[in-house]
Amino acid sequence: MKTPGRIAALVCWALAFICVTSVFWQAFGIVRPALFWESASAQMQGTRLSFTHTGDAHLVFYVEAKVRYSCKGQTLETIGASDLHTLEFSEARRLQRAIAKESQIRVYCSPDDPSKVRLALDYPRLYTGWIPSLFAGAILLVGAGFWLRRTWLPPVRCGRCNMPIKRHYNYCPHCRVSLRQSVPAPVTETAHQIPHDGLAQS
Ligand SMILES: [Zn+2]
Repeated sequence: MKTPGRIAALVCWALAFICVTSVFWQAFGIVRPALFWESASAQMQGTRLSFTHTGDAHLVFYVEAKVRYSCKGQTLETIGASDLHTLEFSEARRLQRAIAKESQIRVYCSPDDPSKVRLALDYPRLYTGWIPSLFAGAILLVGAGFWLRRTWLPPVRCGRCNMPIKRHYNYCPHCRVSLRQSVPAPVTETAHQIPHDGLAQS
């Protein structure tokens, strides 16, 4: 039966599903190079802090490094970007300093184009920022769905006139019957079936 609570619960669960899908999609984007791209040790040649623009005029910072590495039998030199794209300049600066200290770093090169590399993975984003928030949100939505389904019930019906009424009403606004005391059920004809034969025999 479609009750308001059940419909609200379905909406909550649909939103939770979207959250979980988004969590997996973002997490997959972070771990994808490590899973499917070839790993190589690269010689660090220099770093720089770069930025792009978001649609709403914010700057997004990321770190690039010039690296020399071997992938698929070729020795290549290219500029690779880190996965971390952040609105926080200080965060990007910290990452740049951390990378600049290394002489060798791990890179992942694309199997389709070995000249395409990603720098060390941005694992901290898996447990900070949006991903855990979305995951927590999904759990809350699932719980809210169960709660709504249990508490948001349809109106009850008056025992006498059968009109829908709010649960907290003391009197039926339609037929004025008191709902506090038990409403006598309308009298119906009861068909008494008397067996034709097999009655108690003495
Ligand atoms: Zn009534």
